[in-house]
Amino acid sequence: MLLKGKVALVTGSTSGIGLGIAQSLARQGAHLMLNGFGDADRACAAVQAVAPPGVQVRHHGADMSQVHQIEDLISSTESAFGQLDILVNNAGIQHVAPIEDFPVDRWDAVIAINLTSAFHTIRVALPGMKRRNWGRIINIASTHGLVASANKSAYVAAKHGLVGMTKSVALETATTGVTVNAICPGWVLTPLVQQQVDARAAAQGLSQEDAKKALLAEKQPSLQFTTPEQLGELAVFMCSEAASNLRGAAINVDGGWVAQ
Ligand code: NAD
Repeated sequence: MLLKGKVALVTGSTSGIGLGIAQSLARQGAHLMLNGFGDADRACAAVQAVAPPGVQVRHHGADMSQVHQIEDLISSTESAFGQLDILVNNAGIQHVAPIEDFPVDRWDAVIAINLTSAFHTIRVALPGMKRRNWGRIINIASTHGLVASANKSAYVAAKHGLVGMTKSVALETATTGVTVNAICPGWVLTPLVQQQVDARAAAQGLSQEDAKKALLAEKQPSLQFTTPEQLGELAVFMCSEAASNLRGAAINVDGGWVAQ
């Protein structure tokens, strides 16, 4: 149990990648604060089910677009568990539209949830990590933090911003026991991507299977989805002592997407 006694917060962990990362951290003995919309009890049960005895799992329903709720999420985590050691900034949404048709409220929401929320969690959580001289901050960016696709201007801007902020804060903490890194997944079949599969199936008259194949073929040379479990195991590595000098990295797990 690599993370026994550590306390982790994963934002947006009621489904998809966040839930997978929370499960991987819990398997290693970390206590978990989950966050996100939807069925919180189901998510807590799914994490508790894979955790060794003694691991505590809680949920806080902060809306990650709201600064005061984010501040309360961090302070509630610290008061419930006594500390916060591992912060995974994962909550995210997508909106796909050409820029001239991009709804202003969707632009604001994508930037707030995918980028600004990480600024707030980090600025509030970092002082405690520095005091204890140990911390791990893992930002879930995307291949879209490294390269672009059409019709995703807000998402690409937010994810490039998140990769940039990762590097900046890694430099600010470089001589401390706190490391800051990003994970850049390619396609992972979660509810967020299922929406894009559904849109493609409808627009092109494809079956679900053919829409998935077409989505992968366009970007991801392995023609395989990355899984939440694979990303969870990378997060565990980033929390290990072996990764104590991994700083400001943005690691792509993308079946070769950005190698092209
Ligand atoms: P998902 O839709 O399955 O999960 C998103 C999570 O964020 C859910 O728990 C949801 O409740 C939560 N959330 C959304 N808005 C929120 C808000 N305002 N406040 C609090 N929680 C909120 O999506 P996912 O695919 O698991 O995405 C997780 C992260 O991974 C996102 O940042 C996404 O950009 C990134 N990502 C996903 C893929 C992919 O292919 N699925 C690829 C690269 C990066």
